[in-house]
Amino acid sequence: MSEWALEIFPYLKGLALSYLENPLVTPSPLEKCFLRDMAEVAKDCYYRGWAPATSGNFSVHLRRNLVWQSPSGVCKGRLTGSSFIPISLESQAAWGFSLGKPSEEMPVHLGIYRRHDEARCVVHAHPPHFIKHSKGKSELVFEGYEIQKAVGSESFCEQLTFRVAPNQTREGLEGFCHEQLETYLHTQAKLIMFEGHGIYAWADSPLKALQCIEAVESLCTGKN
Ligand SMILES: [Zn+2]
Repeated sequence: MSEWALEIFPYLKGLALSYLENPLVTPSPLEKCFLRDMAEVAKDCYYRGWAPATSGNFSVHLRRNLVWQSPSGVCKGRLTGSSFIPISLESQAAWGFSLGKPSEEMPVHLGIYRRHDEARCVVHAHPPHFIKHSKGKSELVFEGYEIQKAVGSESFCEQLTFRVAPNQTREGLEGFCHEQLETYLHTQAKLIMFEGHGIYAWADSPLKALQCIEAVESLCTGKN
């Protein structure tokens, strides 16, 4: 082996080992498309007033065990496709080197992905009519609205009932996700509601998840 090769070999070996210990995960071309769309949906939520200050959170899950999660403490009107943090679905830990911190509401996203294989995206927002309408309630009932069809009704004649989960503190959310999340997931409408707080919706695209929240917010205005 030449002198040059003897010098470079330990360096390459060290690089390979550090990569294996702490891989730099990068989005696949398909994930890049989804993340760009999700950043647009996050902007929509921000400019509608559904994610004020740094609230709201957004994620994409296309690969087994890998979830791209929006960062905490960041204005969601400024997200881009490269703002998302890679998280392990199994351990909930961030993959590789990450400058940002994932959202504290991430356990709800991961809980949805663990239970619903078809979920590719989760959108969480705080739409104001829903917040007002759900305050102090354990369920919401809608009947006679055409827009019900967007969240699981066959027709406007059906009575559509949603269980509303009690809002959770930061400390209580992890336990809630282990013990009670299942009870409050609406698999037909693909959403979960938290009393006086907001809605999480899942779908196979960011836009569809947004539309689900849009439908509930519209129902809560009582105008459609
Ligand atoms: Zn929230």
